[in-house]
Amino acid sequence: MNDLEIELDRLELIPVMPIPDHLTGEVQSKLAYVDELIASAQVPPPGDQIVLRLRQPAGSLPEARRAELEDKVQRVVTSMVKGAFKPKIQVLEDHLDRPTPFSEDPMSQLAGRGEISQEAPGVYSLGPLVTRLIGYFEGRFLDLAASFGAQPYRFPTLIPARYLERVNYFRAFPHSLTFVTHLREDLDAIDHFSQLAACDEAGVLNTPPASFAQVQTLLSPAVCYHLYFALADKTLPGGKLAATAVGNCFRYEAINLVSLERLWNFTMREVIFVGPKDYVLENRETARQRMHRVLEETGLAYRVESANDPFFIGEFRKQAAFQSAFQLKYEIRARLPFKERLALVVKRSSPPSTLAVGSYNYHQDFFGRNLNISLPDGSPAHTGCVAFGLERIAFAFLAQHGLDPAGWPVHVAEAIK
Ligand code: ATP
Ligand code: ZN
Ligand code: MG
Repeated sequence: MNDLEIELDRLELIPVMPIPDHLTGEVQSKLAYVDELIASAQVPPPGDQIVLRLRQPAGSLPEARRAELEDKVQRVVTSMVKGAFKPKIQVLEDHLDRPTPFSEDPMSQLAGRGEISQEAPGVYSLGPLVTRLIGYFEGRFLDLAASFGAQPYRFPTLIPARYLERVNYFRAFPHSLTFVTHLREDLDAIDHFSQLAACDEAGVLNTPPASFAQVQTLLSPAVCYHLYFALADKTLPGGKLAATAVGNCFRYEAINLVSLERLWNFTMREVIFVGPKDYVLENRETARQRMHRVLEETGLAYRVESANDPFFIGEFRKQAAFQSAFQLKYEIRARLPFKERLALVVKRSSPPSTLAVGSYNYHQDFFGRNLNISLPDGSPAHTGCVAFGLERIAFAFLAQHGLDPAGWPVHVAEAIK
């Protein structure tokens, strides 16, 4: 068998109910969590079938196993598509036509120069150029935070399970959780572990059964939650607060963890507003306008448009519609020119390929109510945050402008000298 035959052997085509254009990306990303057999998943136009590449030949699967796989895929599609309506995408800014001199995928050049080094899927070390570029963007975000008089905070990387439970995280985003544990406080368990623990070829750590304590803590998926937890069950002194923090965030995105685009371990800088509704909404809008000027200097080609969070399958339809109806989330989506080239190669006309590098979020009084954060008049606080993915914004910039600072917009090139 040649390579092509092996590849074809692993393909599984599943006809499904028509998936409208605006949902193909969401469905495709959720297929990553459907079955461990799935190595990759695609929803090619016109969206009436799913193409899966499996980890083993489709023909070698028992019929019952194939049926189970197909059933799970159908459940995802039905649950996300049936009764869904197309949200009106609101575009607040459109600068996608800014000149972008570069059109390659920067990953191989970055790897070639030792600027990135992959430790595991979605886990990278970054070298001096990328680090300096991130430092440049961090500087701009800190300026933004300072323009609101935002108070600095530092938050832990771990987050207690009971906190996430209080904000319904286990219902909304179970798929991307990362759990933390430790060995049980037991001499025999620790002795056993120290003698038997070893990694297999796939990097799996084999341990004696019952080594680990039960999970009480996870790796934090976002930064602003920590501020809300610190304010929980209290009245907010002064009735409003602007804060800022940077932190490690963790989202397990399974087979979607490809390149710097989608990391398991990434860094987010947030500017956070807590107070009455108007205070939060006005500041979110002011932040967008200030960022507009900053992003212009960076020469980034992007658009700001309404969006929704990546809720898990069962919650997706309802929650996404809610977010869209109340304009709760806008994303800064940067162009990835190399993806458009790829689309041309497969002769598909496609809209510009973009990646979210930041978001402007308004949570209404969700955290205020669930965590009992009160304003001086006794009403629940409203919250909002402006969140930037540091690796993502650097990646998008490099994808548009290349790795040579000589060709970069002067403002950026000067700043990282
Ligand atoms: P996406 O739509 O790409 O899944 P998101 O809507 O879940 O992202 P937010 O929750 O708004 O993202 O997080 C704020 C920012 O953090 C994003 O705009 C992005 O820049 C960054 N970010 C989110 N998830 C990841 C990830 N897995 N890897 C790298 N950066 C990420
Ligand atoms: Zn936030
Ligand atoms: Mg998003």
